[in-house]
Amino acid sequence: MDGAGGPRRALLLLEHRRNRELLLDWFRREHDLEPATALGDGAVDVVVADLSAFAAGRERVRALRDSAAPAYLPLLLLVSARQAERIPATVWEDADEVLTTPVRQGELRLRLERLLQVRARSLQTALRIVELGRSNTDLQQFAYAAAHELSNPLTVVAGAIETISVRHGDGLDATAAELLAVARQQSARLQRLIDDLLAYARVGTVSESELVDVGELLDSTLAELRPQIEATGASVERGPLPRLVTVEGQLRLVLRNLVANALKYRRENHPPRIRVSSEERDGEWLVSVADNGIGVPGDQAAAVFDMFARVGATGGEGHGIGLALCRRVIERQGGRIWVEPQPRHGSVFRFTLPAAGR
Ligand code: ADP
Repeated sequence: MDGAGGPRRALLLLEHRRNRELLLDWFRREHDLEPATALGDGAVDVVVADLSAFAAGRERVRALRDSAAPAYLPLLLLVSARQAERIPATVWEDADEVLTTPVRQGELRLRLERLLQVRARSLQTALRIVELGRSNTDLQQFAYAAAHELSNPLTVVAGAIETISVRHGDGLDATAAELLAVARQQSARLQRLIDDLLAYARVGTVSESELVDVGELLDSTLAELRPQIEATGASVERGPLPRLVTVEGQLRLVLRNLVANALKYRRENHPPRIRVSSEERDGEWLVSVADNGIGVPGDQAAAVFDMFARVGATGGEGHGIGLALCRRVIERQGGRIWVEPQPRHGSVFRFTLPAAGR
């Protein structure tokens, strides 16, 4: 992105000699815009080109405008009345304004001012985007560092609890033993929270994509969750699952969170019945994880994906990070994730991922 501030500059790409002389002269005399006459002449705020110069340098003009992103670099095209009738559609798509020559100076001034106003607004927005990106990165690094730093003292505390319990467990009275059990339970909970925060922060780092067999990934996820599956008497059914180009470790987290939630948020006296399936639609894969659990209230369907969001009585097990992490992973890979509550029948969590590159 090129910067704001300083004098405004117009890049004049004019092959037509008369246009060039007229406009250069006019810009120098009348306008508070500095003219530049060649691509690569530094940052500019607007490009004014005639049709032949534009046709010759089109790719470079496009590259210049792309490099201005996220700010907007307007293009004003000058065409003769005769050319106007035969302009290819793609040129109309490139140009933000088209003026037919000979141009009245008042008209040109008006159009340029309008384009420059939009340009100035876009520069402010672009600066805000850059600042937001920076503070987002800072926040991510902060979350990572804080979680990391918390890990060490927690390991010491957990170690001390274990030592007391092993060495002095027999000598403790009932209250002390109970307090020790609470301390152990809470330190394990804090460790899970730290692990989840670290995983969340890590999603922001650059990771390699590879071809992943989602069926195999589900197998190993289910193997990890076997204790919970056996304890709850759950059955997991599956449809065909795709092979996708994705970040394996991150997709594993998504599957793990969705299946673990399906096990966790079960209805009393109803062993979890989970179905993982997929279908290909319009160039993307739609993967669904359906359960017969307590369901998500319709008005909370979007909120459950927020950080630290928890709905209803959750039994004190989670931290509300799992679904936020799933959303972060899926959105960073170009997909969407949502839940479709099925009143009294559980919920279906669905996500999409691009099928390209299979
Ligand atoms: P956690 O499970 O750690 O609380 P999550 O981000 O995974 O955090 O989930 C957020 C909330 O969404 C949960 O607290 C729960 O209320 C709800 N939820 C998630 N998955 C399900 C599910 N399969 N069925 C019903 N509610 C769910």
